[in-house]
Amino acid sequence: MTKKVITIDGPAGAGKSTVSKALADRLKYLYLDTGALYRALAFKALKKNIDVNHPGELAGLCSVTDVVLKNINGKMTVWVDGEDVGEKIRAEEVGLAASTISAYAVVREKLLSLQREAGADGGIVAEGRDMGSVVFPDADFKFYLDADLEERIRRRCGELACRTGGAEPSSVSRDMRARDEQDTNRKIAPLAAAPDAVIIDSTSLTIPQVVEKILEHLSGASVSGKP
Ligand code: C5P
Repeated sequence: MTKKVITIDGPAGAGKSTVSKALADRLKYLYLDTGALYRALAFKALKKNIDVNHPGELAGLCSVTDVVLKNINGKMTVWVDGEDVGEKIRAEEVGLAASTISAYAVVREKLLSLQREAGADGGIVAEGRDMGSVVFPDADFKFYLDADLEERIRRRCGELACRTGGAEPSSVSRDMRARDEQDTNRKIAPLAAAPDAVIIDSTSLTIPQVVEKILEHLSGASVSGKP
């Protein structure tokens, strides 16, 4: 059985990461978190005091920065200039900066081939904003995961509390609204469901329920979670 490319797009806080990881585990596929690539570049930009709204400075950043995806024991990790960026890129501030820089062509072009190479042999669950629309337009299965804004804010607060010990709901709400606005309205690769994507509203669903829904779609095409 050939290994498929499965794409999962959607806004921040819709549950994409958890669902994609669980799905990849079930299928014994690789999980590709493409937001981590944008976050990694944004993290370096913030560290180097680069103006994230300045195309020239971003072009300079892209030209001197080495971004690599490494498969370490079945886990894709992002390395910047020889360093595994790991959890450092998870702060909401980095997410917002990632959203800002991801509107620029020079940034998207730098990261495009990395993503395509990672999916070249199939067997991948690729998660992001433009997986089904731009990066893998010929993906075997495309899903778009959405949820109400209030629910997404609630989930993100919980996630940040686990990761960093706390987050102010009003600032999470402000950052998420700003990200929604930037990601949806940018000119290049805006956040949008591909026309052939299956749309799933996860507002009142648990993670296992969303995963089951996706598996139901796949089962008709004999992509099974069973070894
Ligand atoms: O998914 P995550 O929240 O980690 O993504 C951070 C930001 O990176 C997003 O807000 C989005 O602007 C950008 N991004 C993107 N295209 C992707 C993945 C993420 O533009 N495929």
